[in-house]
Amino acid sequence: MKRLLVLAAAVTGLWANAQGYPGSKPIAIVVPFAAGGPTDRVARDLAVALRKTLPGGHFVIENVNGAGGTIGATKVAKANPDGHTLLLWHIGMASTVSLYRKLQFKPLDDFEYLGIVNDVPMTLIGKPQLPATNYRDFENYIRANGGKLNIAHAGLGSASHLCGLMWQSAVNAKEAMTTIPFGGTAPAMTALVAGQVDVMCDQTTNTTAQIESGRVKAFAVTTAGRLASPPLLKDYPSLQEVGLKGFSLTIWHGLYAPKGTPAPVLRQLNEALKRALKNPELIRKQEALGALVVTDQRMEPAGHKAFVAAEIAKFKPLIEAAGKFAD
Ligand code: ASP
Repeated sequence: MKRLLVLAAAVTGLWANAQGYPGSKPIAIVVPFAAGGPTDRVARDLAVALRKTLPGGHFVIENVNGAGGTIGATKVAKANPDGHTLLLWHIGMASTVSLYRKLQFKPLDDFEYLGIVNDVPMTLIGKPQLPATNYRDFENYIRANGGKLNIAHAGLGSASHLCGLMWQSAVNAKEAMTTIPFGGTAPAMTALVAGQVDVMCDQTTNTTAQIESGRVKAFAVTTAGRLASPPLLKDYPSLQEVGLKGFSLTIWHGLYAPKGTPAPVLRQLNEALKRALKNPELIRKQEALGALVVTDQRMEPAGHKAFVAAEIAKFKPLIEAAGKFAD
């Protein structure tokens, strides 16, 4: 009887793989930011692991940057739903809906959710020439010189923009600095290291090596408490610790397919993703940069979608309080 049920399930496609998928056509993972940045890095490391867990899957990275990630996300929302175009995006999937008056996609309606990939804390950093050596001096310096300084980010709706907005709002220095958008925080980091911009808040996956080499100065981490790893970041206070009551920001990345991608393809991709996220080499790479493994529940499509819905609700009032909208 049990064997009959198994057979019936396989015949109805319940457990079957999609016919012919992935085939020989490449699977593009769209990264909606510049190459060499933190989202790009997560996507490239993930693609290496996915090549092992989806046999025959020829994963390629496509950088479609601009408008805080919304151009790349729009491209995927409108792509052919055949499992050959995916999106790797971060908290922007939840924040842009409150930051933009008009978006070309609906985060909860226009995508299939494949699973959360990681959680990533952020770090508040400055150009090496800033005189401050700790957070308190840094904040005092901003207050004294704000009008002359600028803060870099990866476009309206990006994680760096959201973090900068929340921090400036918390210290009441919203008008003090000019915001400078880039196509990703890779080019923004180059400008910061060169001293062309003054401040940035970015994922630890992009900041850790730069802090370690002394190319940028770090002042605080954005998590509620101090970070346990990587060892270098243990020495930096959280923004709560330096007096910004209730400040807590951890961003995350998720994998998406366009709405309407066939269920068997989605199942195959989710299974491959879950196995990839358990790959010790991927876990080691992520943890070395401060990224955190997520719970099994958030690796499931339903858990991923419920989490994004909760994040949309959580960030809406915070973004509204911080002001500033894009069209
Ligand atoms: N870290 C960027 C952001 O602020 C994105 C990137 O370049 O990966 O959203």
